[in-house]
Amino acid sequence: MTTAENQLRREIIETARALQSTGLTHGTSGNVSARCNNGMLITPSGVPYEDLEVEKIVFMDLEGGYYGDFLPSSEWRMHLDIYRTYEAAEAVVHCHSPRATALSTHNRGIPAFHYMVAVAGGDEIKCADYATFGTKALSDAMIAALEDRRACLLAHHGQIAYGPSLNKAFGSQVKWKHWLINIFLRWFWENLRLFLQPR
Ligand SMILES: [Zn+2]
Repeated sequence: MTTAENQLRREIIETARALQSTGLTHGTSGNVSARCNNGMLITPSGVPYEDLEVEKIVFMDLEGGYYGDFLPSSEWRMHLDIYRTYEAAEAVVHCHSPRATALSTHNRGIPAFHYMVAVAGGDEIKCADYATFGTKALSDAMIAALEDRRACLLAHHGQIAYGPSLNKAFGSQVKWKHWLINIFLRWFWENLRLFLQPR
């Protein structure tokens, strides 16, 4: 393992732990990855974030093969397909934050009513159609929702974002967290009108 790869593994662990400390996720929910050596490094399945060590981060090639003693996150397919589809993706952060997950149950994107929508890279944050977690169907729906964007909601599930670095991918999730508070306030104040209007 090179020094650079070792550092990347440490950054993945720090980012995963930050998901917990910022309240974006709980337990082993959520997963973090970074592009590395014609493949990716991703958090393992079922290992509490406090028990993560650099050796437990799993390397996967772009064909879906994985190496080492630990299984990759059960949601590895979404990460892999992002790296395969978007050259600009260097890191991916996926989680099920309470606010984004609640919004995702409406099966609707978030329209361009606030400048923070641009964090996702477009004039609307799309919501990927529902499919069972870990499936190719969910990954395909996510790739469609990410076209010309760096983040999207996943219906009845949560959210996912990619970026040119772990800091950028994680940062957009944190921005979303605070911004979604405003969405909820508006949601209540306007009696759900924003999300219930005909599409
Ligand atoms: Zn998930």
